[in-house]
Amino acid sequence: MSIMPDATETEVHRLHEAAQKVREELACAREFVPAYLPEQREIIASHMLICQDPKLLQGAVEYIREQSMNAVWALEKTGESLCAAFRAIDDPYLRERVQDIRTVIGRIQSCLYGDKYIASEQETPAVLLAEELSPVDAIELKLERLLSLVTVEGGQATHTAILARSLHIPAVVGVPGLLESSREGELVIVDALKGCIYLEPDETELAEFVRRQEEYSHWREQVRRSAYLPAETLDAVRIEVQANIEEAKECEAVLESGAEGIGLCRTELAYLKGKSLPTENVLYEEYRTIAQSLAPARVIFRTLDLGADKMSEQQQELREANPDLGLRAIRYCLRHQDVFRTQLRALLRAGAHGNVAVMLPMITGIQELETSRRIINEVATELCAEGMPCDPHIPVGVMIEVPAAVMIADALAREVDFFSIGTNDLIHYLLAIDRRNTHVAYLHEPLHPAVVRAVKHVIDCAHHEGIGVSICGELAADPYCLPIFLGMGVDVLSASPQRVPILKHLARKLRKEDCTELAHSVLMTTDVAAANRMVTEALFELLREEVDFHFTMIHTS
Ligand code: PEP
Ligand code: MG
Repeated sequence: MSIMPDATETEVHRLHEAAQKVREELACAREFVPAYLPEQREIIASHMLICQDPKLLQGAVEYIREQSMNAVWALEKTGESLCAAFRAIDDPYLRERVQDIRTVIGRIQSCLYGDKYIASEQETPAVLLAEELSPVDAIELKLERLLSLVTVEGGQATHTAILARSLHIPAVVGVPGLLESSREGELVIVDALKGCIYLEPDETELAEFVRRQEEYSHWREQVRRSAYLPAETLDAVRIEVQANIEEAKECEAVLESGAEGIGLCRTELAYLKGKSLPTENVLYEEYRTIAQSLAPARVIFRTLDLGADKMSEQQQELREANPDLGLRAIRYCLRHQDVFRTQLRALLRAGAHGNVAVMLPMITGIQELETSRRIINEVATELCAEGMPCDPHIPVGVMIEVPAAVMIADALAREVDFFSIGTNDLIHYLLAIDRRNTHVAYLHEPLHPAVVRAVKHVIDCAHHEGIGVSICGELAADPYCLPIFLGMGVDVLSASPQRVPILKHLARKLRKEDCTELAHSVLMTTDVAAANRMVTEALFELLREEVDFHFTMIHTS
């Protein structure tokens, strides 16, 4: 624990080196996080920040210099006081962040001990029982080997809960005494539906759960096998189900999912990854690969939506007091037209290799749309003059994701080829609830009358002008909303590839006529609780045998 006073500077150096090494390991792990798990990437980024947190490092350095402690112990002491300060905060979300500090300290200490951090050597799929699972642990464990997760630490905002929700892995969190009462290698049943675990189950329990598991696997298999069938309701109304992606490497998953195109290709990753802006050719190669993989199906590329929850370093330097209302998305592109034009050149060029459309994010007024369209036309003329193969008549659509766009949806519909409703931001702005703020997460109500009325109004405006509407926010993937969206007449749902087969399967179990009636009743009420009750009851009625399975999939924490 103690070191010789003349060794303190060597110890300080060791501490900084270890923190830096852990930071690099985390950066490396972050690269392996699949694109469909953006939250995990963010959590790892927050661990990287803790690694260089001045409070943590300087605190430890003081212990080393002033009390001649070794670096491991100095970190332990600093960590204790930091965690105590967090625990005293009367906010469950912040209290749960203690776990982040402990995870990072544990890693730096392991590095100081010279340990290689190996989360598990487990090769076969297994249930993981743990104190808490950090995102890096999960990546190192290899996600496909996790059958289920059970942790001592609990709460909706723990990383285990977030991870389980993203991966649709059954999970039970907040089980005190778990590690003391279980043994490695023993048989365990995890019933995430009821939030129970059974250690060493008896034969009757085992037989019952084996039966339920078989039923569930059968259902999953049925869903998987029918992924290529159209999403046509029982009364022969067809909707399209498309996929949301961020990178070309997801195309294979899209093709396997039975998705009928890509309804949202987010393009920010290339701008957030490196220190410098991506070149036209780098972007073109990526977009062309996606367009070619999906052809003849349509790929909708959303132009750059930097800002708010997707901040580039450049934007962080702007230090806007409220970036969500700041220079984000199309505003940023119209301010930095060189960046916008480079991306548009790449997109129009990719259009020569497939069925490509362009979608503009965060449109709030006609003027923004007109300016964007003018720039798109200029870029097309420029490419044609250069003799560069491109699609000069690329279809252009807008995202409807701010209340202003809802209010002028009639006018916008006359100027574009399609609409896509971004329910993530629409709810954020319409209900004034920061989509990243867990304090107000309880206000997130998909069936809030403001939300359902807005969606219906947008669909009606689009159809009045003869254009199609898709929904590409997270709600598109939510089976609770499916009958409402179907009933309101949406044309396309675009969700992560993993959700596509289930959405198509459930759509085939519904009657459009029933959904229209349900949507009508939901639109008539201003009572959210009543709307939720109506939808839940209708789902039990309309989907009967599907519901139990569906609950199994979503109530994982
Ligand atoms: C949305 O806002 O619903 C959306 C799809 O865009 P993002 O989540 O990328 O902001
Ligand atoms: Mg958005």
